[in-house]
Amino acid sequence: MISEIQHTKSAPVKDVQIEGGLWGERQATNRNRTIPAIYHQMEITGRVDAWRLKWKPGDPKPHIFWDSDMGKWLEAVAYSLMTHPDAALEAQADAVIDLIEQAQQPDGYLNIFFTAVEPENRWKNLRDWHELYDAGHLIEGAVAYAEATGKRKLLDIMCRYTDHIDARFGRDEGKLRGYCGHPEIELALVRLYHATGEKRYFELSKYFVDERGQQPLYFDVETVARGEDPRNYWAKTYRYCQAHVPIREQKTAMGHSVRAAYLYSGVADIVAQTGDAELAAVCKTIWDDLVQHQMYITGGLGPAHANEGFTFAYDLPNETAYAETCAAIALVFWAQRMFNLEHDSRYVDVMERALYNGFLSGVSFEGRHFFYANPLASFPNVNPYDRFSGITTEQHYHREEWFDCACCPPNLARLIASIGSYFYSTSNDTLFVHLYNQNRSTLTVGGTTVRLAQQTNYPWDETVEMTVGVDAPARFKMALRIPDWCRSYTLSVNGAAVQAAAARGYVTIEREWANGDTVTLRLAMPVERMAPHPEIRQDAGCVALQRGPVVYCLEQVDNGPRLANVALPREAKLEASFDANLFGGVGVISGEGVRVEPGEWQGSLYQPQSVVKVMQKPQPIKAIPYCFWANREPGEMRVWIREI
Ligand code: ZN
Repeated sequence: MISEIQHTKSAPVKDVQIEGGLWGERQATNRNRTIPAIYHQMEITGRVDAWRLKWKPGDPKPHIFWDSDMGKWLEAVAYSLMTHPDAALEAQADAVIDLIEQAQQPDGYLNIFFTAVEPENRWKNLRDWHELYDAGHLIEGAVAYAEATGKRKLLDIMCRYTDHIDARFGRDEGKLRGYCGHPEIELALVRLYHATGEKRYFELSKYFVDERGQQPLYFDVETVARGEDPRNYWAKTYRYCQAHVPIREQKTAMGHSVRAAYLYSGVADIVAQTGDAELAAVCKTIWDDLVQHQMYITGGLGPAHANEGFTFAYDLPNETAYAETCAAIALVFWAQRMFNLEHDSRYVDVMERALYNGFLSGVSFEGRHFFYANPLASFPNVNPYDRFSGITTEQHYHREEWFDCACCPPNLARLIASIGSYFYSTSNDTLFVHLYNQNRSTLTVGGTTVRLAQQTNYPWDETVEMTVGVDAPARFKMALRIPDWCRSYTLSVNGAAVQAAAARGYVTIEREWANGDTVTLRLAMPVERMAPHPEIRQDAGCVALQRGPVVYCLEQVDNGPRLANVALPREAKLEASFDANLFGGVGVISGEGVRVEPGEWQGSLYQPQSVVKVMQKPQPIKAIPYCFWANREPGEMRVWIREI
């Protein structure tokens, strides 16, 4: 049953106006370039027209995920409209929604492929065919669009479809005990419940979460019903889709990493609503496993291409890291939910790591090219998609304009457009400040409206200045996150130092706030050499450079070729500076490295060292933020640098 439990809530997207700084610029690029580019790609690949359901034999087939691409694009548009109204963009979205409306079947069913191409296969293969996943993304788009514009058309469409789904799946007599191979609808249904107040939608989400992995396994049942043998499952194990055992029995992050983190996000949503202690413990246990054993320093998840997911503890290869952009996004979703359950910054620390690194690397600086996989090292002819095929067609791994399976670009667009929501959470008496970037926000704490303005050039600068605006003096707590990477900080209110220790990662100031009060937080941000856990064999003997939340990398364009031979002496001085001419202004790190190579090499592949005379030559090194790699001259890249 649903009980309304008081947790903190993330700030509504519309209430956080980001102005300039890294996220302001990324949002402007998202608005001006990425969102239009995605629409253009959807148009030229047939994803818009496909809603007309005109497919006939001989035409190229729509892909079974196309509905989800549009759902995510509409969601991105909705968030963008919340902070930056745009009549033309809204009209474009309205036209798409009209097409979607016409594609809905009389019984409420809505799916391009299984209406136009293979209507006989509706709901026949939940394991692989993504109908509920598609529905989930359209639901999320619908909820966001209604909130942004007040227009309910898509929301009503999706309620009709959800009613259809609710009538088909569940434990009642005559229903199928199915659930989706690719989780997503679970978290979407909770959003739909909040948008409509319809408790059936929440109960359906809860059903999907709890039914997953129950015996007899539904994926076996439906496979047999199709006349196939479950032992021939292409992925070999239901661990791939987290359906091998019920979620309450799961203890480690496993399988396809996007599916995993979407599922865990849905589970956290159920916990937020019900207070289910057993599910809360599952979330925590899996979270701990993930961040202690299976996460890249960039916040990337899932090293393997084979299952687009997890392998085993401490297995974190760099050149072949899959680390799908969508997986970093899903981690951000889950982290936000975990914070709102527990009010502990350890979740936001991971969220920030993913946001500034393995997520942001997913889009080019100019905004029209995307990574699917986000490796932590790159070498010519090594492609993280194609680990074992030898020479690939790509000389250097680079971002693409689009993908056949285009999950990442619109996913990235919706997160950048809604990034403001991740800056703050509020409860009845506390305003939590999670992220730092220039912005003007209007937040509600208890009954008080607080206008908060941040001035900062974080993450390149250490200082964040916040100005509080209130109509009348008001008492509440402001909890400022002290990131896990920060080892010393100073804090003052109206110029007077505040001595306060952080608890669960937040330092809390409780006072009667007056209009114009200023808070100044200085987070010491030295360049850190990050050491890898000794079990991570792929990083042994290496360090990564991090300053603030930003992980840096070496690129060939700055440091020459054969980056594997570039080493950093342990005592080498490293200096952070701001390069105003690089990517609109970013931090860079420079220092004195050495190049460890033989002076020359003649003859066979392997030779005694005494013969070839390996030498160390001074080499200045320059590291740039990892998230901006592959935006200049193509070449090698490395996050983990040899240390000597
Ligand atoms: Zn993706």
